[in-house]
Amino acid sequence: MDVLPPQMSAKDEGSFAYFTMKNRAPQILIKVINTLQQHKNEFFEKLGEVGTEAEKKLLSLLSKLLNELQTDEPLLPLTDNWVDTDIWNQYLKYHHSLLNETNKKISWFQSPWLYVECYMYRRIHEALMLSSPISDLDVFKEPKEQNFLESQEAIRILCSYLQGLNKIENLDENQLKDEFFKLLQISLWGNKCDLSLSGGQSSSQTSSPLTVLEDLKPFILVNNMDYLWLLLINRKKMRQETFSVTRVDFVLDNAGFELVTDLVMADFLLASKLATEIHFHGKSIPWYVSDTNKNDINWVIEQLKAANTKCMSECGINWEDYFKKHSWVYHDHMFWTLPYEYCAMSQVAPDLYAELQKSNLILFKGDLNYRKLVGDRKWGFTVPFHQALNGFHPAPLCSIRTVKAEVQVGLAPGQGEQVAVTDPQWMNTGKYGIFQFDGHFDLA
Ligand SMILES: [Mg+2]
Repeated sequence: MDVLPPQMSAKDEGSFAYFTMKNRAPQILIKVINTLQQHKNEFFEKLGEVGTEAEKKLLSLLSKLLNELQTDEPLLPLTDNWVDTDIWNQYLKYHHSLLNETNKKISWFQSPWLYVECYMYRRIHEALMLSSPISDLDVFKEPKEQNFLESQEAIRILCSYLQGLNKIENLDENQLKDEFFKLLQISLWGNKCDLSLSGGQSSSQTSSPLTVLEDLKPFILVNNMDYLWLLLINRKKMRQETFSVTRVDFVLDNAGFELVTDLVMADFLLASKLATEIHFHGKSIPWYVSDTNKNDINWVIEQLKAANTKCMSECGINWEDYFKKHSWVYHDHMFWTLPYEYCAMSQVAPDLYAELQKSNLILFKGDLNYRKLVGDRKWGFTVPFHQALNGFHPAPLCSIRTVKAEVQVGLAPGQGEQVAVTDPQWMNTGKYGIFQFDGHFDLA
Protein backbone atom coordinates (compact mmCIF):
# COMPACT_ATOMS: atom_id res chain seq x y z
CA MET A 1 0.00 0.00 0.00
CA ASP A 2 1.17 3.51 -0.75
CA VAL A 3 2.44 5.61 2.15
CA LEU A 4 -0.23 8.04 3.31
CA PRO A 5 0.60 11.75 3.53
CA PRO A 6 1.06 13.05 7.11
CA GLN A 7 -1.85 14.45 9.10
CA MET A 8 -2.11 18.20 9.60
CA SER A 9 -0.67 19.51 12.86
CA ALA A 10 -0.34 22.74 14.83
CA LYS A 11 3.42 22.22 14.71
CA ASP A 12 3.27 23.81 11.25
CA GLU A 13 3.38 27.46 12.34
CA GLY A 14 1.30 29.66 10.09
CA SER A 15 -1.07 26.79 9.22
CA PHE A 16 -4.77 26.98 10.02
CA ALA A 17 -4.22 24.11 12.48
CA TYR A 18 -1.70 26.29 14.32
CA PHE A 19 -4.02 29.31 14.26
CA THR A 20 -6.86 27.17 15.60
CA MET A 21 -4.95 25.76 18.54
CA LYS A 22 -3.28 29.09 19.27
CA ASN A 23 -6.38 31.29 19.03
CA ARG A 24 -9.76 29.68 18.39
CA ALA A 25 -9.45 26.76 20.81
CA PRO A 26 -8.46 28.87 23.88
CA GLN A 27 -11.10 31.43 22.90
CA ILE A 28 -13.78 28.71 22.98
CA LEU A 29 -12.65 27.50 26.41
CA ILE A 30 -12.55 31.04 27.80
CA LYS A 31 -16.06 31.65 26.53
CA VAL A 32 -17.30 28.50 28.29
CA ILE A 33 -15.59 29.57 31.53
CA ASN A 34 -17.08 33.08 31.32
CA THR A 35 -20.58 31.77 30.64
CA LEU A 36 -20.36 29.44 33.63
CA GLN A 37 -19.28 32.32 35.83
CA GLN A 38 -22.15 34.46 34.62
CA HIS A 39 -24.62 31.73 35.55
CA LYS A 40 -23.12 31.09 38.97
CA ASN A 41 -26.33 31.88 40.85
CA GLU A 42 -28.39 29.44 38.83
CA PHE A 43 -26.33 26.49 40.09
CA PHE A 44 -27.01 27.57 43.65
CA GLU A 45 -30.68 28.23 42.99
CA LYS A 46 -31.17 24.80 41.45
CA LEU A 47 -28.99 22.62 43.64
CA GLY A 48 -27.94 24.71 46.64
CA GLU A 49 -24.42 24.43 48.03
CA VAL A 50 -23.83 21.18 46.08
CA GLY A 51 -24.45 23.07 42.85
CA THR A 52 -22.00 25.82 43.79
CA GLU A 53 -19.34 23.25 44.66
CA ALA A 54 -19.88 21.35 41.39
CA GLU A 55 -19.61 24.56 39.39
CA LYS A 56 -16.36 25.46 41.20
CA LYS A 57 -14.94 22.03 40.42
CA LEU A 58 -15.94 22.35 36.76
CA LEU A 59 -14.38 25.81 36.51
CA SER A 60 -11.11 24.66 38.03
CA LEU A 61 -10.90 21.66 35.67
CA LEU A 62 -11.59 23.85 32.64
CA SER A 63 -9.02 26.44 33.75
CA LYS A 64 -6.48 23.65 34.15
CA LEU A 65 -7.32 22.42 30.65
CA LEU A 66 -6.89 25.92 29.24
CA ASN A 67 -3.51 26.21 30.91
CA GLU A 68 -2.34 22.83 29.57
CA LEU A 69 -3.34 23.85 26.07
CA GLN A 70 -1.71 27.28 26.19
CA THR A 71 1.57 25.90 27.53
CA ASP A 72 1.65 22.90 25.16
CA GLU A 73 1.64 20.33 27.98
CA PRO A 74 1.56 16.61 27.12
CA LEU A 75 -1.90 15.11 26.65
CA LEU A 76 -3.07 13.23 29.75
CA PRO A 77 -5.06 10.00 29.97
CA LEU A 78 -8.76 10.49 30.74
CA THR A 79 -9.83 9.77 34.31
CA ASP A 80 -13.61 9.66 33.97
CA ASN A 81 -15.68 6.59 33.44
CA TRP A 82 -17.58 7.01 30.20
CA VAL A 83 -18.20 4.43 27.46
CA ASP A 84 -15.20 5.56 25.42
CA THR A 85 -12.64 6.34 28.18
CA ASP A 86 -10.56 3.20 27.58
CA ILE A 87 -10.56 3.73 23.82
CA TRP A 88 -9.21 7.28 24.22
CA ASN A 89 -6.50 6.07 26.61
CA GLN A 90 -5.50 3.26 24.25
CA TYR A 91 -5.34 5.80 21.43
CA LEU A 92 -2.94 7.91 23.51
CA LYS A 93 -0.80 4.84 24.24
CA TYR A 94 -0.71 4.01 20.56
CA HIS A 95 0.52 7.52 19.73
CA HIS A 96 3.19 7.19 22.41
CA SER A 97 4.40 4.02 20.71
CA LEU A 98 4.89 6.01 17.47
CA LEU A 99 7.16 8.61 19.06
CA ASN A 100 10.68 8.95 17.78
CA GLU A 101 13.67 11.12 18.56
CA THR A 102 12.51 14.17 16.65
CA ASN A 103 9.02 14.22 18.13
CA LYS A 104 9.24 13.61 21.82
CA LYS A 105 5.82 14.27 23.27
CA ILE A 106 2.14 13.87 22.53
CA SER A 107 1.01 17.44 22.98
CA TRP A 108 -1.31 20.13 21.71
CA PHE A 109 1.18 21.69 19.31
CA GLN A 110 3.15 18.58 18.34
CA SER A 111 0.54 15.92 17.62
CA PRO A 112 -2.06 15.60 14.84
CA TRP A 113 -4.54 18.48 14.88
CA LEU A 114 -7.55 16.21 14.43
CA TYR A 115 -6.53 14.26 17.53
CA VAL A 116 -5.82 17.22 19.82
CA GLU A 117 -8.86 19.23 18.77
CA CYS A 118 -11.19 16.27 19.38
CA TYR A 119 -9.35 15.66 22.65
CA MET A 120 -10.11 19.20 23.82
CA TYR A 121 -13.88 18.63 23.46
CA ARG A 122 -13.56 15.23 25.10
CA ARG A 123 -11.71 16.86 28.02
CA ILE A 124 -14.57 19.35 28.43
CA HIS A 125 -16.83 16.31 28.69
CA GLU A 126 -14.45 14.76 31.23
CA ALA A 127 -14.56 17.94 33.31
CA LEU A 128 -18.36 17.68 33.35
CA MET A 129 -18.32 13.98 34.16
CA LEU A 130 -16.13 14.74 37.17
CA SER A 131 -18.43 17.57 38.33
CA SER A 132 -21.48 15.67 39.44
CA PRO A 133 -24.38 16.53 39.78
CA ILE A 134 -24.09 18.94 36.84
CA SER A 135 -22.58 16.37 34.44
CA ASP A 136 -25.53 16.65 32.03
CA LEU A 137 -24.96 20.34 31.46
CA ASP A 138 -24.50 21.30 27.78
CA VAL A 139 -21.99 24.14 28.00
CA PHE A 140 -22.78 25.11 24.39
CA LYS A 141 -26.54 25.13 24.74
CA GLU A 142 -26.82 28.92 24.85
CA PRO A 143 -24.95 29.75 21.62
CA LYS A 144 -26.74 26.92 19.75
CA GLU A 145 -30.15 28.22 20.79
CA GLN A 146 -29.11 31.77 20.03
CA ASN A 147 -28.15 30.75 16.48
CA PHE A 148 -31.63 29.29 15.95
CA LEU A 149 -33.40 32.31 17.42
CA GLU A 150 -31.35 34.82 15.43
CA SER A 151 -32.07 32.89 12.23
CA GLN A 152 -35.85 32.98 12.76
CA GLU A 153 -36.64 34.94 9.62
CA ALA A 154 -34.56 32.64 7.39
CA ILE A 155 -36.17 29.63 9.05
CA ARG A 156 -39.65 31.05 8.49
CA ILE A 157 -38.88 31.57 4.79
CA LEU A 158 -37.60 28.00 4.47
CA CYS A 159 -40.56 26.45 6.26
CA SER A 160 -42.96 28.47 4.18
CA TYR A 161 -41.17 27.42 0.99
CA LEU A 162 -41.36 23.77 2.00
CA GLN A 163 -45.07 24.04 2.79
CA GLY A 164 -45.58 25.66 -0.61
CA LEU A 165 -44.20 22.53 -2.25
CA ASN A 166 -47.08 20.44 -0.96
CA LYS A 167 -48.36 19.76 -4.45
CA ILE A 168 -45.15 17.92 -5.00
CA GLU A 169 -46.82 15.03 -6.84
CA ASN A 170 -47.79 17.45 -9.59
CA LEU A 171 -44.23 18.49 -10.35
CA ASP A 172 -42.72 17.04 -13.51
CA GLU A 173 -39.29 15.46 -13.33
CA ASN A 174 -37.40 18.61 -14.30
CA GLN A 175 -39.22 20.72 -11.72
CA LEU A 176 -38.56 18.10 -9.08
CA LYS A 177 -34.89 18.10 -9.98
CA ASP A 178 -34.74 21.91 -9.71
CA GLU A 179 -36.28 21.81 -6.23
CA PHE A 180 -33.95 19.00 -5.20
CA PHE A 181 -30.91 21.04 -6.28
CA LYS A 182 -32.23 24.16 -4.60
CA LEU A 183 -32.73 22.49 -1.22
CA LEU A 184 -29.37 20.72 -1.46
CA GLN A 185 -27.68 24.08 -1.93
CA ILE A 186 -29.55 25.54 1.02
CA SER A 187 -28.30 22.64 3.12
CA LEU A 188 -24.77 23.30 1.84
CA TRP A 189 -24.75 27.01 2.64
CA GLY A 190 -26.48 26.33 5.95
CA ASN A 191 -23.13 24.79 6.87
CA LYS A 192 -21.63 28.28 6.98
CA CYS A 193 -23.31 28.77 10.35
CA ASP A 194 -20.59 27.26 12.50
CA LEU A 195 -19.90 28.42 16.02
CA SER A 196 -16.61 26.56 16.25
CA LEU A 197 -15.19 28.53 13.31
CA SER A 198 -16.35 31.84 14.76
CA GLY A 199 -14.87 30.95 18.14
CA GLY A 200 -18.35 30.75 19.61
CA GLN A 201 -19.38 34.21 18.37
CA SER A 202 -22.72 34.70 16.67
CA SER A 203 -22.95 33.06 13.24
CA SER A 204 -26.57 33.13 12.21
CA GLN A 205 -28.44 33.22 8.92
CA THR A 206 -30.09 36.61 8.75
CA SER A 207 -30.88 36.95 5.02
CA SER A 208 -33.20 34.89 2.83
CA PRO A 209 -31.52 31.57 2.09
CA LEU A 210 -33.36 31.24 -1.25
CA THR A 211 -32.52 34.48 -3.04
CA VAL A 212 -28.77 34.12 -2.60
CA LEU A 213 -28.38 30.72 -4.29
CA GLU A 214 -27.59 32.02 -7.78
CA ASP A 215 -24.95 34.42 -6.45
CA LEU A 216 -23.31 31.62 -4.50
CA LYS A 217 -23.07 29.15 -7.41
CA PRO A 218 -19.56 30.27 -8.51
CA PHE A 219 -18.32 29.31 -5.04
CA ILE A 220 -19.22 25.64 -5.45
CA LEU A 221 -15.85 24.11 -6.30
CA VAL A 222 -16.95 20.48 -6.73
CA ASN A 223 -20.51 19.97 -7.85
CA ASN A 224 -21.64 16.34 -7.98
CA MET A 225 -25.33 17.12 -7.35
CA ASP A 226 -26.21 15.34 -10.62
CA TYR A 227 -24.94 12.02 -9.28
CA LEU A 228 -27.15 12.32 -6.21
CA TRP A 229 -30.15 13.10 -8.38
CA LEU A 230 -29.52 10.20 -10.77
CA LEU A 231 -29.03 7.76 -7.92
CA LEU A 232 -32.28 8.74 -6.20
CA ILE A 233 -34.50 9.23 -9.25
CA ASN A 234 -33.39 5.91 -10.77
CA ARG A 235 -34.15 4.09 -7.55
CA LYS A 236 -37.53 5.80 -7.35
CA LYS A 237 -38.40 4.69 -10.89
CA MET A 238 -37.27 1.13 -10.28
CA ARG A 239 -38.73 0.89 -6.80
CA GLN A 240 -41.99 -0.73 -7.79
CA GLU A 241 -40.19 -3.62 -9.48
CA THR A 242 -36.80 -3.87 -7.81
CA PHE A 243 -36.45 -1.93 -4.57
CA SER A 244 -38.84 -1.60 -1.69
CA VAL A 245 -37.02 1.17 0.17
CA THR A 246 -34.57 3.98 -0.41
CA ARG A 247 -32.70 4.94 2.72
CA VAL A 248 -30.80 8.22 2.97
CA ASP A 249 -28.53 8.92 5.96
CA PHE A 250 -27.50 12.38 7.19
CA VAL A 251 -24.35 12.50 9.28
CA LEU A 252 -25.19 15.85 10.83
CA ASP A 253 -22.99 18.81 11.61
CA ASN A 254 -24.34 21.92 13.32
CA ALA A 255 -27.55 22.55 15.24
CA GLY A 256 -29.47 25.80 14.79
CA PHE A 257 -30.05 27.05 11.26
CA GLU A 258 -28.04 24.31 9.53
CA LEU A 259 -30.05 21.59 11.26
CA VAL A 260 -33.28 23.18 9.99
CA THR A 261 -31.92 23.14 6.41
CA ASP A 262 -31.14 19.43 6.81
CA LEU A 263 -34.58 18.64 8.20
CA VAL A 264 -36.19 20.59 5.35
CA MET A 265 -34.14 18.55 2.87
CA ALA A 266 -35.12 15.33 4.64
CA ASP A 267 -38.81 16.31 4.58
CA PHE A 268 -38.57 17.03 0.84
CA LEU A 269 -36.90 13.66 0.16
CA LEU A 270 -39.81 11.84 1.82
CA ALA A 271 -42.55 13.99 0.29
CA SER A 272 -41.11 13.58 -3.21
CA LYS A 273 -40.62 9.84 -2.63
CA LEU A 274 -36.99 10.19 -3.62
CA ALA A 275 -36.40 8.44 -0.29
CA THR A 276 -38.62 6.30 1.90
CA GLU A 277 -36.69 6.50 5.16
CA ILE A 278 -34.22 8.97 6.62
CA HIS A 279 -31.64 8.26 9.29
CA PHE A 280 -29.87 11.05 11.19
CA HIS A 281 -26.58 10.61 13.02
CA GLY A 282 -25.71 13.12 15.73
CA LYS A 283 -23.17 13.45 18.50
CA SER A 284 -23.76 11.89 21.92
CA ILE A 285 -21.90 14.66 23.80
CA PRO A 286 -21.56 18.43 23.26
CA TRP A 287 -19.04 18.77 20.44
CA TYR A 288 -17.24 21.46 18.40
CA VAL A 289 -19.54 24.05 20.00
CA SER A 290 -22.47 23.84 17.62
CA ASP A 291 -22.69 20.13 16.67
CA THR A 292 -26.10 18.50 16.94
CA ASN A 293 -27.17 16.33 19.90
CA LYS A 294 -30.51 14.61 20.35
CA ASN A 295 -31.56 17.41 22.72
CA ASP A 296 -30.95 20.00 20.00
CA ILE A 297 -33.28 18.22 17.56
CA ASN A 298 -35.97 17.94 20.22
CA TRP A 299 -35.54 21.58 21.16
CA VAL A 300 -35.78 22.77 17.54
CA ILE A 301 -38.95 20.72 16.98
CA GLU A 302 -40.51 22.10 20.17
CA GLN A 303 -39.62 25.66 19.15
CA LEU A 304 -41.17 25.20 15.73
CA LYS A 305 -44.33 23.60 17.12
CA ALA A 306 -44.76 26.58 19.45
CA ALA A 307 -44.15 29.21 16.73
CA ASN A 308 -46.97 31.68 15.93
CA THR A 309 -46.38 31.24 12.23
CA LYS A 310 -48.41 28.39 10.77
CA CYS A 311 -45.79 27.19 8.29
CA MET A 312 -43.30 26.80 11.12
CA SER A 313 -45.62 25.08 13.56
CA GLU A 314 -46.72 22.66 10.83
CA CYS A 315 -43.12 21.73 10.14
CA GLY A 316 -42.61 21.08 13.86
CA ILE A 317 -45.72 18.88 14.04
CA ASN A 318 -44.84 16.93 10.87
CA TRP A 319 -41.26 16.36 11.92
CA GLU A 320 -42.23 15.09 15.34
CA ASP A 321 -44.62 12.75 13.58
CA TYR A 322 -41.93 11.41 11.22
CA PHE A 323 -39.82 10.46 14.24
CA LYS A 324 -42.81 8.82 15.94
CA LYS A 325 -43.62 6.80 12.84
CA HIS A 326 -39.94 5.91 12.32
CA SER A 327 -39.77 7.25 8.80
CA TRP A 328 -37.14 9.44 10.46
CA VAL A 329 -34.74 7.71 12.84
CA TYR A 330 -32.15 9.36 15.08
CA HIS A 331 -28.92 7.54 15.99
CA ASP A 332 -25.91 8.50 18.02
CA HIS A 333 -22.73 6.51 18.40
CA MET A 334 -19.60 7.26 20.40
CA PHE A 335 -17.48 6.74 17.27
CA TRP A 336 -18.50 10.18 15.99
CA THR A 337 -16.73 11.79 18.96
CA LEU A 338 -13.56 9.70 18.80
CA PRO A 339 -10.44 11.06 17.07
CA TYR A 340 -10.34 8.32 14.42
CA GLU A 341 -10.43 8.91 10.70
CA TYR A 342 -13.35 7.13 9.06
CA CYS A 343 -11.24 4.49 7.31
CA ALA A 344 -10.79 3.03 10.83
CA MET A 345 -14.56 2.75 11.40
CA SER A 346 -14.95 -0.84 10.20
CA GLN A 347 -12.30 -1.88 12.78
CA VAL A 348 -13.16 0.43 15.69
CA ALA A 349 -16.95 0.54 15.34
CA PRO A 350 -18.04 -2.41 13.15
CA ASP A 351 -21.65 -2.02 14.37
CA LEU A 352 -21.83 1.55 13.08
CA TYR A 353 -20.17 0.57 9.80
CA ALA A 354 -22.73 -2.21 9.35
CA GLU A 355 -25.53 0.29 10.06
CA LEU A 356 -24.21 2.65 7.39
CA GLN A 357 -23.95 -0.21 4.90
CA LYS A 358 -27.76 -0.39 4.99
CA SER A 359 -27.93 3.09 3.49
CA ASN A 360 -28.43 3.87 -0.20
CA LEU A 361 -26.84 7.30 0.16
CA ILE A 362 -24.95 8.86 3.06
CA LEU A 363 -24.71 12.66 3.22
CA PHE A 364 -21.81 13.81 5.38
CA LYS A 365 -22.41 17.38 6.48
CA GLY A 366 -19.63 19.78 7.29
CA ASP A 367 -15.96 20.19 7.74
CA LEU A 368 -15.12 17.82 10.59
CA ASN A 369 -16.79 14.95 8.72
CA TYR A 370 -14.74 15.84 5.64
CA ARG A 371 -11.52 15.97 7.63
CA LYS A 372 -12.25 12.52 9.05
CA LEU A 373 -13.32 11.14 5.66
CA VAL A 374 -9.96 12.02 4.13
CA GLY A 375 -7.97 11.45 7.33
CA ASP A 376 -7.13 15.17 7.80
CA ARG A 377 -4.07 14.54 5.66
CA LYS A 378 -1.96 16.80 3.49
CA TRP A 379 -3.31 15.44 0.20
CA GLY A 380 -2.67 17.20 -3.07
CA PHE A 381 -5.74 19.05 -4.43
CA THR A 382 -6.09 16.69 -7.41
CA VAL A 383 -5.93 13.38 -5.52
CA PRO A 384 -9.20 11.53 -6.29
CA PHE A 385 -11.74 11.56 -3.44
CA HIS A 386 -12.07 7.79 -3.68
CA GLN A 387 -8.35 7.37 -3.03
CA ALA A 388 -8.33 9.78 -0.07
CA LEU A 389 -11.20 7.81 1.53
CA ASN A 390 -8.59 5.08 1.96
CA GLY A 391 -11.00 2.16 1.91
CA PHE A 392 -13.99 3.79 3.65
CA HIS A 393 -16.93 2.81 1.43
CA PRO A 394 -19.94 1.63 3.45
CA ALA A 395 -22.37 2.91 0.76
CA PRO A 396 -22.49 5.63 -1.90
CA LEU A 397 -21.63 8.82 -0.04
CA CYS A 398 -21.40 12.55 -0.53
CA SER A 399 -19.65 15.26 1.44
CA ILE A 400 -21.68 18.48 1.66
CA ARG A 401 -19.31 20.95 3.18
CA THR A 402 -18.23 24.57 3.20
CA VAL A 403 -14.44 24.64 3.25
CA LYS A 404 -13.10 25.64 6.66
CA ALA A 405 -9.90 23.62 7.02
CA GLU A 406 -6.85 23.26 4.81
CA VAL A 407 -7.73 19.95 3.27
CA GLN A 408 -9.37 19.45 -0.12
CA VAL A 409 -9.11 16.69 -2.68
CA GLY A 410 -10.72 15.92 -6.03
CA LEU A 411 -10.20 19.34 -7.64
CA ALA A 412 -9.43 19.85 -11.32
CA PRO A 413 -5.75 20.44 -12.16
CA GLY A 414 -4.87 24.05 -11.30
CA GLN A 415 -8.26 24.77 -9.73
CA GLY A 416 -7.05 25.08 -6.13
CA GLU A 417 -4.10 27.23 -7.14
CA GLN A 418 -6.36 29.49 -9.17
CA VAL A 419 -8.81 30.07 -6.32
CA ALA A 420 -5.86 30.82 -4.03
CA VAL A 421 -4.72 33.61 -6.34
CA THR A 422 -7.99 35.52 -6.03
CA ASP A 423 -8.63 34.54 -2.42
CA PRO A 424 -5.60 33.43 -0.37
CA GLN A 425 -7.83 32.60 2.64
CA TRP A 426 -10.20 30.42 0.59
CA MET A 427 -9.73 27.33 2.74
CA ASN A 428 -10.53 28.86 6.13
CA THR A 429 -13.60 30.99 5.76
CA GLY A 430 -16.50 28.73 4.75
CA LYS A 431 -17.02 30.90 1.66
CA TYR A 432 -16.50 27.99 -0.77
CA GLY A 433 -18.47 24.77 -0.83
CA ILE A 434 -18.45 21.27 -2.28
CA PHE A 435 -20.81 18.42 -3.14
CA GLN A 436 -18.29 15.62 -3.46
CA PHE A 437 -19.69 12.20 -4.31
CA ASP A 438 -18.11 8.77 -4.17
CA GLY A 439 -20.20 6.00 -5.63
CA HIS A 440 -17.45 3.67 -6.76
CA PHE A 441 -17.58 1.69 -3.54
CA ASP A 442 -18.24 -1.64 -5.19
CA LEU A 443 -15.20 -1.35 -7.46
CA ALA A 444 -12.81 -1.17 -4.49
MG1 LIG B 1 -19.75 21.69 13.64
